[in-house]
Amino acid sequence: MKILLNNNDLNEAINNVSKLGFVPTMGSFHKGHISLIKKSKKECNKTIVSIFVNPSQFNSKKDFDKYPRNIKKDLSILRDLKVNFVYLPSKKNVYHSKRSSKIKLNKKDQILCAKFRKGHFEGVIDVMDRLTNLIKPSKIFMGEKDMQQLYLVKNYIEKRYKSKVVPCQTIRDKRRFALSSRNLLLNNKQIKKARNLINHIFKFKNRLKNKKNILKLLQQKRSDLNKLFDVKVEYLELRNFKNLKISSKTKNSKIFIAYFINKVRLIDNI
Ligand code: AMP
Repeated sequence: MKILLNNNDLNEAINNVSKLGFVPTMGSFHKGHISLIKKSKKECNKTIVSIFVNPSQFNSKKDFDKYPRNIKKDLSILRDLKVNFVYLPSKKNVYHSKRSSKIKLNKKDQILCAKFRKGHFEGVIDVMDRLTNLIKPSKIFMGEKDMQQLYLVKNYIEKRYKSKVVPCQTIRDKRRFALSSRNLLLNNKQIKKARNLINHIFKFKNRLKNKKNILKLLQQKRSDLNKLFDVKVEYLELRNFKNLKISSKTKNSKIFIAYFINKVRLIDNI
């Protein structure tokens, strides 16, 4: 495994690689990341994984500072997986040039997390644009756990590059709670609470089938969740998973949720 610490190392290593698979990450690996890497290894000749905690996608310096980092453990996981390249850029490596035009979300995209985390997706798209431009992979592997991110990045990147963005299914623990690096910020009691809440939503979604007053039921459920689980639900919406439009039928739709357990913000789609 080659560890690439700057853009010269990167260019030298990936020059001439055909069918390169790219897995962008912020590190602190769990089985979700590992599933993306395995898919890339299966579908591509070589795989490059980046670990970069991108400051421009965080809403506060505090959130950025407390984001979990485990670089030693991550490198050992990547070695075991026999990944070809790991790219560990500095902020300067990624942001070495100024953008010619600012990234702006369309009005129709200012929904779900974009509504509550101003500037977040602009930061994500900016870094993905820069990384794709540096790496020029054939395929980029991204998780459905972050469905809105996947949707926005796929639309942006596939319009501008030859790279294809490949959706990868959400990996959950035995109790169906989605794995996330942010789960490391939760204590056992809080994890238990999140698991119960997510199981509650799975059951609720089943009961929504063929119901006519779905919007009202969602509204009611949202306030019930706050009371039942002592959380703060930011949004709870049923949306079509292809175009993210509000849906009144469960077919081709998922329940999108963002909620806070104490100060930790979690998202999922079910
Ligand atoms: P992150 O390191 O959190 O930025 O995530 C890197 C990639 O892993 C993103 O494409 C995420 O959507 C994906 N990912 C995160 N959690 C999961 C999960 N539980 N299952 C599948 N993919 C995931």
